[in-house]
Amino acid sequence: MNFHFTEEQELLRSAFAEFAKEEIAPNAARWDAENITPLDIMPKLGELGVLGIFVPEEYGGIGLGHTERVMALEEIARHSAGLAMMVFTHQLGMAAILDFGSEEQKKKYLPDMCAGTCICGLAVTEPGGGSDVAGQKTAAVLEGDSWVVNGRKCFITNSHCAGATVITCRTGEDEKGRGTFSTIIIEKGTEGFAPGREENKLGLRGSMTGELIMNNARVPKENLVGEVGQGNPIAMKEIGEVGRASMAAIATGILRGCLEDAVKFANERIVYGKPIAKLQAIQFHVAEIRCDYEAARLMLYRAAALKDEGKPASPEFSMAKYFATDAACRDARKCIEVMGGYGVVNEYAAGRYLRDAMGCISSGGTGEIQKLIVAGDTMRKFK
Ligand SMILES: Cc1cc2nc3c(=O)[nH]c(=O)nc-3n(C[C@H](O)[C@H](O)[C@H](O)COP(=O)(O)OP(=O)(O)OC[C@H]3O[C@@H](n4cnc5c(N)ncnc54)[C@H](O)[C@@H]3O)c2cc1C
Repeated sequence: MNFHFTEEQELLRSAFAEFAKEEIAPNAARWDAENITPLDIMPKLGELGVLGIFVPEEYGGIGLGHTERVMALEEIARHSAGLAMMVFTHQLGMAAILDFGSEEQKKKYLPDMCAGTCICGLAVTEPGGGSDVAGQKTAAVLEGDSWVVNGRKCFITNSHCAGATVITCRTGEDEKGRGTFSTIIIEKGTEGFAPGREENKLGLRGSMTGELIMNNARVPKENLVGEVGQGNPIAMKEIGEVGRASMAAIATGILRGCLEDAVKFANERIVYGKPIAKLQAIQFHVAEIRCDYEAARLMLYRAAALKDEGKPASPEFSMAKYFATDAACRDARKCIEVMGGYGVVNEYAAGRYLRDAMGCISSGGTGEIQKLIVAGDTMRKFK
């Protein structure tokens, strides 16, 4: 067992942290306040190697793993969880193409996506409910050389800016009459395909979230990803591993923000003639946030390492996502408490951390869904 990052990983982390400090930190509060999606930063992240970090070099990436991918996300989310949300969903769609797409699809889409000149998305959730994946109603019918797609997706990250979105559609039914699903890439500009309303979110602002509407959208037959009927397994694998790892990384980045801001404030705020860092009550808050941050990191990087070793890690990702999100919500509140009245002043980031942490609750599956997955695994393994 080894709890250390390699020297190469530490160097990468320093490069990501430096970029985040220079390019993201000074703008994060404005992106949040003005609800700006900073698309211009994507090519810069592409140049740094972040977007295609897990993609083989032949498709424009740098051929590392998910450990390095979530490391970059943690550094981005430390300053802007909203931007990290845009980056992770971009990578989520890319992962589906990389893991299940044809050679032509990988060559067509991945280089531009690694470069950040084409944004990707992955759309499963519908107004009828995100947790009930089998209840999706968006349908695709093969007519000649095209899939004709009809339906509506909601809460989709990068909805209005994606050049290509990986969409799950109902394409048939099994012998018991239950829907079977397939995965199709729809490009921006496709006739009959358009974004709908854009949500004005509580947190994770700096990423776009909205509807996608398909009204007899005609998509070339060759845009099918994987096999007909493989749609939900593709979505569940990518959301279950890449998606939950990313949400855990974003929540871990928020936790580090809480920790660093609480410590800084506690050292600078003088009450009774001394810094509040000397008060035991304040020290307890800081100690609790630190424990949560360290535990969230251990869970996150263990799950990422398992994935990089090619081992199944679905319950580990669910535990990491559930724990880190819950911890970020309670610790953003503690950070506000440490700051007293200043905690609710928008000049400080603590309020944004709380809104962003709450924004993490449902993306990648809610806490209840993670607990169902962890419980199922636990009942099997601990009987
Ligand atoms: C910021 C943000 C970004 C997102 N980005 C994307 C995206 O890019 N692509 C995408 O496809 N989706 C995306 N989503 C949607 C997200 O995946 C869904 O919100 C999530 O799956 C929950 O679905 P829902 O919101 O419809 O809630 P519902 O499924 O309606 O759930 C409502 C409540 O019921 C509970 N519940 C549901 N089923 C069960 C059960 N079996 N047992 C116990 N409790 C249950 C839930 O835990 C929750 O508390 C995003 C969401 C957000 C907030």
